[in-house]
Amino acid sequence: RKLVGKLTTGCTEFNEMLGGGVETQSITELYGEFGSGKTQVAHQLAVNVQLPKEKGGLNGSVIMIDTENTFRPERIAQMVDGLSQKHGEDYDPEEFLKHIHVARAYNSNHQILLSDSASELANELKNTERPVRLFIVDSLTAHFRAEYVGRGTLADRQQKLNKHLHDLQRLGDLFNAAVIVTNQVMSKPDAFFGDPTKPIGGHILGHTATFRLYLRKSKGDKRIVRLVDSPNLPDGESIIAVTTEGLQD
Ligand code: ADP
Ligand code: MG
Repeated sequence: RKLVGKLTTGCTEFNEMLGGGVETQSITELYGEFGSGKTQVAHQLAVNVQLPKEKGGLNGSVIMIDTENTFRPERIAQMVDGLSQKHGEDYDPEEFLKHIHVARAYNSNHQILLSDSASELANELKNTERPVRLFIVDSLTAHFRAEYVGRGTLADRQQKLNKHLHDLQRLGDLFNAAVIVTNQVMSKPDAFFGDPTKPIGGHILGHTATFRLYLRKSKGDKRIVRLVDSPNLPDGESIIAVTTEGLQD
């Protein structure tokens, strides 16, 4: 078993809440309502993971499965510029974009197929100077929710999602990479997900995602991130800001 790596979020409190940062060899679930900042956090981690270790990165590259067409190269460029300012460096956004391998998933089966292709690409990059250290699936659940509607299909959906998650966990283990998945939930309890703030026994991701982070909007550009039911860390909350330059304290 390889030593677990920690990936900086770029935010002091957020990192501390996570015991240093987002861990490799684990799945971290970002969940919250539309607009709560899940995709922003995913973009920021896709940038940060490329930083050298002394800057909190893992010197790695990224594979992102984009199911809602929300990946924005321009947003990555803004965040890289933000980091250049913060670190007093002259990072090249194009360099960062080169190491983010984005695949668009058109339906849930395609999404599952893409995680197999992700394994192949990660294998190719394994012994290069840019191994894959981060897998992102944004959104994990959107296609599944749209395609499997009605009670009769629930078991099937759960089984497919569970297998998909296990595949992702395996990628994390195999490549010593962090795995980020996003999951949009409703503000009110909903038939499938229940109360988003209190994962119940039947919660589909509750048992598989090692770190569950509940995001919600606060004043202005502020977001509250709550760590829920971690096996080895105390529950806690931290406040981050989503700014033009990226995530900040
Ligand atoms: P979701 O949880 O639905 O994925 P997003 O991560 O897409 O939500 O968050 C969208 C929010 O992020 C916007 O409402 C805005 O507050 C913020 N945001 C997005 N892009 C920028 C930007 N370039 N500069 C500042 N804030 C931004
Ligand atoms: Mg999103």
